[in-house]
Amino acid sequence: MPDAAPATHTEEYLGRYESALVQVFGRPQLVLEHGDGAWVWDVDGRRYLDLVGGLAVNALGHNHPALVAAVSKQAGQLVHVSNFYTSVPQVELAERILRVADAPVGSAVFFCNSGAEAIEAAVKLARRTGRTGIVAAEGAFHGRTTGALALTHKPAYREPFEPLLPGVVHVPWGDVAALEAAVGPDTSAVVLEPIQGEGGVVPAAPDFLRAARRVTAEAGALLVLDEIQTGVGRTGSWFAFQQAGVIPDAMTLAKGLGGGIPIGALVTFGPEVSGMLTAGQHGSTFGGNPLACAAGLAVLDTIESEGLLAHVRSAGEHLERRIDGLDDPRVTGIRGSGLLRAVTLAGDWAPAVAAHGREAGLILNPVAPDAVRLAPPLVVTTDQLDLFVDALPGLLDLATEETPR
Ligand SMILES: *Cc1c(COP(=O)(O)O)cnc(C)c1O
Repeated sequence: MPDAAPATHTEEYLGRYESALVQVFGRPQLVLEHGDGAWVWDVDGRRYLDLVGGLAVNALGHNHPALVAAVSKQAGQLVHVSNFYTSVPQVELAERILRVADAPVGSAVFFCNSGAEAIEAAVKLARRTGRTGIVAAEGAFHGRTTGALALTHKPAYREPFEPLLPGVVHVPWGDVAALEAAVGPDTSAVVLEPIQGEGGVVPAAPDFLRAARRVTAEAGALLVLDEIQTGVGRTGSWFAFQQAGVIPDAMTLAKGLGGGIPIGALVTFGPEVSGMLTAGQHGSTFGGNPLACAAGLAVLDTIESEGLLAHVRSAGEHLERRIDGLDDPRVTGIRGSGLLRAVTLAGDWAPAVAAHGREAGLILNPVAPDAVRLAPPLVVTTDQLDLFVDALPGLLDLATEETPR
């Protein structure tokens, strides 16, 4: 007997996906077709509230008119020119990033296409100190290319590909004494996320980032802040370092910067660090192309014109109040800042909460067994966040039935 025809479009495409794509992501959860704001629809017409935002990428949500217009207009003008030439959007986006970062005169931007590539650029920048040691943190995620992977901590990601870039050590997250002990005359850079994203949305203790600033300055090493997930308004300021009161030597960006169009950036602070990579020492074919830069400009323009930094702060506080107000012993708290959050649970129920959430039309990310991550579009409304909070006790009823604890 021939196999039964797939019952849904979703099943059909998942079957074809399995035959045609490298299976590094496991079985996709949904086959999505279109979106609008914080809503997305799958190929069977089911609607979902997207509270993960393409993993902190779709800053303006889906189908935002400003992003659609900017990308459409630029696509009709110039998509790519190579780095023998520059373009108006490239120059303007670099200037705009430096302005919103309050970067000192002499600061500069290198454009690439992803977060891992921004980290690779930071690693090459660090090598220009003439040293090879890099200090990162336990729980850190900095990407999957072989250089970035050396900085990423999770053994399951690293071990199949060892040996990786040598000279990297990981210190316990938040441990100032361990950081002080690890940084020395061979340290080229300390690389940290202001809030560990993939590590579970775990903010740095304020004294940890300040200590990193102090010990790198004393050792003549660079402080690189990885703002790939926390940057571009995600935490309620343009960049998380601005809330921490710590100015890095360099910062990596990607994810939200293009609102979904691939773009990454390394920002170097001040003339000395900005002069460390010279002509011919780094490059990228696609990096900084006019299409991606036009998207970045549309994202930054819209964050300003729609007052999204203030909105992210108040929406994040609203979510915090609503979660605290649940007064449910199965919910132990909420961490993170702005609209980069994890709701923490008293048991390992996050995967089941996310699975039942999906059936109920909510896209959630189980970032840890006991933590549900939310990184919704910055344009998400408080009513939309309430849909999640109101559904959470019922999702926990279903999850705890399956996994008592
Ligand atoms: C996602 C992420 C990366 C890697 O970005 P890619 O674009 O997937 O290469 C690096 N650092 C942090 C903090 C991230 O969240």
